[in-house]
Amino acid sequence: MVDIQKEKTLIIIKPDGVQRTLIGEIIKRYEKTGLKLIAMKMVIPTGELVDKHYNVDPEWPQKVGTKALASYERTGKTPPSTDPLVLASNVLNGLISYLSSGPVVVMVWQGMHAVGIVRKITGSTEPLSSDVGTIRGDFTIDSYEVADIANRSVRNLIHASSSTEESEKEIALWFRSEELMNYRLFNETVLYDTNLDCLLD
Ligand code: ATP
Ligand code: MG
Repeated sequence: MVDIQKEKTLIIIKPDGVQRTLIGEIIKRYEKTGLKLIAMKMVIPTGELVDKHYNVDPEWPQKVGTKALASYERTGKTPPSTDPLVLASNVLNGLISYLSSGPVVVMVWQGMHAVGIVRKITGSTEPLSSDVGTIRGDFTIDSYEVADIANRSVRNLIHASSSTEESEKEIALWFRSEELMNYRLFNETVLYDTNLDCLLD
């Protein structure tokens, strides 16, 4: 296998996805892309693990706080603070109670462009504006506006790594290296073989 086929991404089916009995439907969508499942487990994460997970990218508080501020501006609501880092800290507290509220399903998927393909199928963060056809767009109904009024996380069924750098760090946080399966999936021949000269007798 060449390196391009080894790209990995971490997906978490969050507690709302488990409770909405969407585990099978969500896995089916990722599985049908041709990506390969190489690790999976069900856990109730501690708050500490969730905190570490969202802080693997040191830029995350700034990014998520800036997005939060923009959503307050869009909806004309007054933010509790105009400092993105204060808003990010509220979002993180919400995420800690959301993700540790019950079991989640954590998976590693591998294959060409794994991070980008999974982000595309998952859809953008806010279900109200996620594209039709994406998991977040098709299977749930939350918005920044309602989540902010209730001072809780946007419930959007899934976490998916946003870069390969982030996925490497996230995978190391959730899995031991021996939990990642190294195996051949026969479908991969059709996806990656240059000449497809293995099909006929
Ligand atoms: P994820 O990282 O879960 O795939 P994402 O990359 O689309 O989602 P981020 O901006 O990294 O989104 O935010 C992480 C998670 O925090 C979101 O999935 C959502 O559950 C929650 N969240 C983000 N912004 C807000 C906000 N302004 N208010 C409430 N919850 C938020
Ligand atoms: Mg993210």
